[in-house]
Amino acid sequence: MPLRLFNTLTRSKDEFKPITPGRVGIYTCGPTVYNYQHVGNYRTYVFEDVLIRSLELLGYEVQREMNITDVGHLTSQADEGEDKMEVGAAREGKTAWQIAEYYTNAFLKDCAELNIRLPEKLRRATDHILEQQAMIRTLENKGYIYLITDGLYFDTAKFKHYGRLVGAEHLEGLMAGARVEANPEKHHPTDFAVWKYSPKGTKRQMEWESPWGVGFPGWHIECSAMAMKYLGETFDIHCGGVDHIPIHHTNEIAQSEGATGKPFANVWMHGEFLLMNQAKMAKSSGGFVRVMDLQEKGIDPLDYRYHCFTAHYRKQLDFAWESLESSKTSRRRLKDAAAGVASAELKPACADHMKAFRDALEDDLNMPGALAAVWDCVKSSVPAGAKRAFLESADEVLGLGLFSVTEQKPLTPELQQLIDRRAKARADKDYQLSDSLRMELEIKGILVDDGKQGQKWRWK
Ligand code: AMP
Ligand code: ZN
Repeated sequence: MPLRLFNTLTRSKDEFKPITPGRVGIYTCGPTVYNYQHVGNYRTYVFEDVLIRSLELLGYEVQREMNITDVGHLTSQADEGEDKMEVGAAREGKTAWQIAEYYTNAFLKDCAELNIRLPEKLRRATDHILEQQAMIRTLENKGYIYLITDGLYFDTAKFKHYGRLVGAEHLEGLMAGARVEANPEKHHPTDFAVWKYSPKGTKRQMEWESPWGVGFPGWHIECSAMAMKYLGETFDIHCGGVDHIPIHHTNEIAQSEGATGKPFANVWMHGEFLLMNQAKMAKSSGGFVRVMDLQEKGIDPLDYRYHCFTAHYRKQLDFAWESLESSKTSRRRLKDAAAGVASAELKPACADHMKAFRDALEDDLNMPGALAAVWDCVKSSVPAGAKRAFLESADEVLGLGLFSVTEQKPLTPELQQLIDRRAKARADKDYQLSDSLRMELEIKGILVDDGKQGQKWRWK
């Protein structure tokens, strides 16, 4: 079956046709590095990772670009308020540059824990100031730009298809939303800054000379400038979370297509939110769970990765500790099914399962369907070696670490003591203590199972 992807632009699931046969250029919006990312953000990055892995499994050669937003993303979506980087710097008593480095590293570490592959080189906005200025110049020459007190703005009324990504039926809502905090000098509520001046009398930590005066780029311009530099004026796929549809991506399209007169990205794919307590997980709403918090509760980041696959990427997903426990059990069962047998020939025993797995991926990245194919195979009567071969291929896409063998470290006296204490707690029927010791052991890399012959332990 051909690969079909849901395109936000056409609002339909379309057959994917790359610009160059066999190759895919893809741009994914990256983090704003002023704070830690939460597991909601990582839901989007897991979706993008699995998209790329699927494209590779299906035989495409993929060039993926991702930015690091280290300047210009303001606290309000409407080009008002302070730069998040400078806010982060003030909060922590560091420079904006130190903040950027620290949180970029935190992001890289979390991605490694979640088995999210990233391009070798991430593109920092502050390394591409000239490219952004060149694009603003082009837009200025084409008459899209006007100047007001605090900077240069893109005139959205001049761009014929403004708001196409949200759909005509939502355009009114977009305008209404933009009006809330609108700068009265703007010509239209949806107009957005491409270059902002440093506030009068203040020296920002991050600011640059420009033909228009000292300042810094607007948030959206970085993605347009960097995507075009590395992927060309038109490329195949652009991704991000659904919150980017009405503003960030809508504005990326306006300024990119305004500058080139050509389509920017052919396919726009958006991942739905991770919810906590019925609301979007966000820093502001307090429900903020980090990868580290998962580990502290004995949830492997890869268990969370499994959890992400239990819902389609275009459906909202709840974050609940209980469902993470069940994802953890499921992943462990898959790991057990993969362990201890030599890999045999995949075909023909698992060929049907492999086909079902690929079919699910080709159907707009249906990960719950792909997981169902995996379980069908695991529960089937095909020989263990063939199952293992199937799981090896599937895990190239799933990235669940099904074959990662943990080093068999020698048991330290401290760990031995914990194991003994737990065995005693169980014998004494002190289940509260035995559960908390189980948790402590797990954080330290040891899993305990209770069987008829008593407690057994193994390395995670
Ligand atoms: P930011 O650092 O705020 O630019 O966000 C990074 C990425 O995470 C963007 O693609 C957002 O769309 C996405 N994102 C933010 N919150 C959530 C959430 N609760 N669930 C899923 N994705 C999210
Ligand atoms: Zn972006």
